[in-house]
Amino acid sequence: MAGDPRVISLIMTLRKLGITDTRVLSAIETTPREMFVAEPFRSSAYDNTALPIACGQTISQPQIVAMAAEALELGPNMRVLEIGCGSGYQAAVLSHLCRRVYTMERHKSLLREAEDRFKKLKLENIATWYGDGFKGWPEQAPFDRILLSAAVPQVPETLIEQLKVGGILVAPVGERVNSDSESVYQHLTKMIRSESGIVAQRLMPVVYVPMVAGLPEKNASSR
Ligand code: SAH
Repeated sequence: MAGDPRVISLIMTLRKLGITDTRVLSAIETTPREMFVAEPFRSSAYDNTALPIACGQTISQPQIVAMAAEALELGPNMRVLEIGCGSGYQAAVLSHLCRRVYTMERHKSLLREAEDRFKKLKLENIATWYGDGFKGWPEQAPFDRILLSAAVPQVPETLIEQLKVGGILVAPVGERVNSDSESVYQHLTKMIRSESGIVAQRLMPVVYVPMVAGLPEKNASSR
């Protein structure tokens, strides 16, 4: 994959779009996105577009994956919680930038496939959990960083409580409303937790699939 012209072209596109963090760019470069998409979409794996995955979900656009990673301002010793593992692509990118990634998913089949990919790629610093992200991962909290990979109308208080003071949470916040005349999207939002509360900054308009409460499968109460 190193030297693959499609990867080089993707990195150039991301640079043009304003991604400047070289650690993030090299994490994208070393993560073979083609392993995270279904067979029919392999030829588009290095396009800067979101693509469908199973269970009606999507693998995020590389630009957004990079922006989220950049906004998290990761350090090598940090522990990061991701809600919405999906294909596992974002978690794989993050795993090159921090000490440990804890990624949660409410579709068991997606999570199992993502786990297989992490194993094949020998990404040993990713822990996975089948559960409802609205509850977070209290056993592993507090986290240095939290990333929501699914959209919320507002960030749940439970998740803010699982973020360290001084920590950063990045999330697509807002409702998606589409009508003939109007499209209202979410904003990728960066929140910094301080002693006195949360300081939030909107980064850019985005479209993520919504975060859905509860677990879809039967025998869902695994926690
Ligand atoms: N990070 C993923 C993006 C997947 S799309 C990637 O790189 O491929 C968002 C994912 O969030 C979906 O897989 C969806 O099932 C999951 N999700 C939605 N609500 C959730 C919840 N409450 N808890 C855990 N995962 C959730």
